[in-house]
Amino acid sequence: MTDDVTPAAGKPAGQRAVWALTGARLADGSTVDVLVAAGRVRAVGPDAASGPAAAAAGLREGHVVDAAGGLLLPAFVDTHVHLDKAGIRPGLDTGRRYPGSANPGDLAWAIAATHEAKRAYTVESVAARAVEVVEQHVQHGTTRIRSHVDVDTIGGLTPLLGVQAAARACADVADVVTIAFPQEGIARDPGAADLMVAAMEHGADVVGGMPHWEDGEAARRAHVAFCFDLAQRFDADVDMHVDETDDGDVRTLATVVEETERRGWHGRVTVGHVCALAAADHAYADDVVAGCARAGITVASNPVTNLVLQGRGDRGLVRRGTTRIRELMAAGVPVAFGQDCVDDAFYPFGRGSMLEVALVSAHAAHLTTPAELGTALAAITDVPAAAWRLGPEYGVVPGARADLQLYAAPTWPQVLRLQDAPRSVWRAGVLVATNEVRRTLRP
Ligand SMILES: [Zn+2]
Repeated sequence: MTDDVTPAAGKPAGQRAVWALTGARLADGSTVDVLVAAGRVRAVGPDAASGPAAAAAGLREGHVVDAAGGLLLPAFVDTHVHLDKAGIRPGLDTGRRYPGSANPGDLAWAIAATHEAKRAYTVESVAARAVEVVEQHVQHGTTRIRSHVDVDTIGGLTPLLGVQAAARACADVADVVTIAFPQEGIARDPGAADLMVAAMEHGADVVGGMPHWEDGEAARRAHVAFCFDLAQRFDADVDMHVDETDDGDVRTLATVVEETERRGWHGRVTVGHVCALAAADHAYADDVVAGCARAGITVASNPVTNLVLQGRGDRGLVRRGTTRIRELMAAGVPVAFGQDCVDDAFYPFGRGSMLEVALVSAHAAHLTTPAELGTALAAITDVPAAAWRLGPEYGVVPGARADLQLYAAPTWPQVLRLQDAPRSVWRAGVLVATNEVRRTLRP
């Protein structure tokens, strides 16, 4: 996919402290006006730009944007991305084979290849690459980003400090929060446990993990317990990489469910990838999916990366690399879609477009009916917002922070199909990006 998007000049009305949109279509098909004041959605309805609420807020003529029947969405939330690794691919030797990994391009290869890049990281180099990807996200309608940052004895706290620097540099256009992610394991990487504590002390927001990377069941259980101990100590949410492997016998998801319930961490736990669930037997899958629903666990599925990463050992029927998305959704488990990777050792594509992520994920998960397309939208909006526990802060509803995006096309299925970037993106009521698409045919 090529990026046919160029930033537009000008200073539309949607840059004022009090402004309104008229004639916007919501995802439910209704047409409304939206009044924004002091960074928040003040009113949504047929007369929100002309009624008493508008007058009371001090809306002035000329501070009104004509949505022209375009789709208005809350800005996207990318709840699973690795900003510290983004953009390292051009510097990697992608043809080289690594010990123990005969398949350049698989997960083990990608982790090994990343080691070399990680050794050379500086706070400045990580920050520069992360800023680029955050800005791509904003340009494509995402204003909230949760980034895993590697915490291990190779890179120390450099990835965290780099992404935090990027977060500060981009604080005017996006909220970037961090997950302390022990990419090399905890038992397997002596010293990582202390670094995880240090990362939380240095302001990492969420506790990450990767239990399936440990050797043996006992170490995997200890890894999960360590992460929950840390989460309790810092009163933090948990967001782990779970069972990102084709091996259906790897079942750390069950341990995560168990710990979530035992510690009362309901609604505060996200599990990423969960590819092994697709290869597991149905009895285990039914049981653990029900457990996720019970424990209020969110699944962050990342089909764009896993489609190219997993199933590489299969012949004939090649696994899709995605978890049981439809089964999870049917069981009431919230499923989010993340970008995961951008131009790194794991994935050579990505441009911070959650619209692209939703389209690819819909293909991978067989989401095609109108209701199913709605779940693809929820997977990049309401579901991750709920996982962040944003509550009434999020959405096109009165009181929410005005993180909004306006499209030219009128409906979500059309927006998803056509893949044009949003005309305008606002964060906290402030215009932070615009896109103009210019096309000519037989010019
Ligand atoms: Zn990931």
